[in-house]
Amino acid sequence: ARKKKHSVKELLHGILNGNVTALSRGITLIESTATKHQEKAKALVEACLPHSNNSIRVGITGVPGVGKSTFIEQYGNLLTTKGHKVAVLAVDPSSSLSKGSILGDKTRMESLVTNEKAFIRPSASGDSLGGVARKTREAIILCEAAGFTYIIIETVGVGQSETAVHSMTDFFLLLKLAGAGDELQGIKRGIMEMADAIVINKADGENIRAAKIAKVEFNRALHLYPPKSNGWIAKTLTCSALNNEGVEEVDTVIADFVSEMKESNHFASKRNEQQKFWLLQTIESRLKSDFYNDEKISAELEKQLILLSENKTTPFAAAALLLELS
Ligand code: GDP
Repeated sequence: ARKKKHSVKELLHGILNGNVTALSRGITLIESTATKHQEKAKALVEACLPHSNNSIRVGITGVPGVGKSTFIEQYGNLLTTKGHKVAVLAVDPSSSLSKGSILGDKTRMESLVTNEKAFIRPSASGDSLGGVARKTREAIILCEAAGFTYIIIETVGVGQSETAVHSMTDFFLLLKLAGAGDELQGIKRGIMEMADAIVINKADGENIRAAKIAKVEFNRALHLYPPKSNGWIAKTLTCSALNNEGVEEVDTVIADFVSEMKESNHFASKRNEQQKFWLLQTIESRLKSDFYNDEKISAELEKQLILLSENKTTPFAAAALLLELS
């Protein structure tokens, strides 16, 4: 059967009515690399824009196996019982590079999948984190236009994926496991600074004690960082996603954060900063790809590389010459 084509107008109408089939199709358009799809996607995103910006965007990161899916499932279901509509998106650049994704293609979040107030979408693939991140940002706009009030964006600590997710969310949550007293080892530099909350998961059974110790240690470590400019002090909590214990407390922390930030106007200003960041980022990546895709330039680049290897030019002279061509 031939696939029925959908006009931007139809998709927009569906999305604004909260139709998840239309939403899925819209995101597929965004993810497509075909030029004609990209044109439609651009029109769709622009049309959705006035209806966006009205959700709470939560970023969640943690190593594979820490319990992200289990946590998101409990948290997502909790939010929907409070009347929210929850969209779960993912940023997993590994899914593009290798066949398998770290976040997993297996059926995840089984009870959230069947929740009518939830929408789950696996990571876009793409040849770069930048590409995946851009598609995710546009997907956020579509989800918001479709009436989702919480957008959860999940990622794993691959490359710069955490930074990318941090720069598109309001609240950034780091899921951790309690170790054997070496909690702070192996934690990437910068992640602690990004975190608005550190949640030690699997605080159940024999793990409870270790989790409590880890909580104290993380809390102490967090205090070594300078305070955030928005005045928020990162919180540490323990939870058992499996037993659905402590998830409610995480929800409370996030809700407190949102009301505090809205009151002090930091909520809006952070989003503004993020918009600015993405504008500049987009310009940079466009300039770069336009430059390298230029045939005249790439031909000259080859020549200059040879001259360089023969010591007949310098990197600076070659760069100046190439930039003159653009
Ligand atoms: P992800 O890779 O970070 O998404 O982790 P998953 O949510 O898939 O969880 C990995 C494994 O840990 C699964 O077998 C879960 O059942 C288990 N798990 C998740 N949360 C908890 C928890 O709070 N306590 C315990 N004991 N196990 C958990």
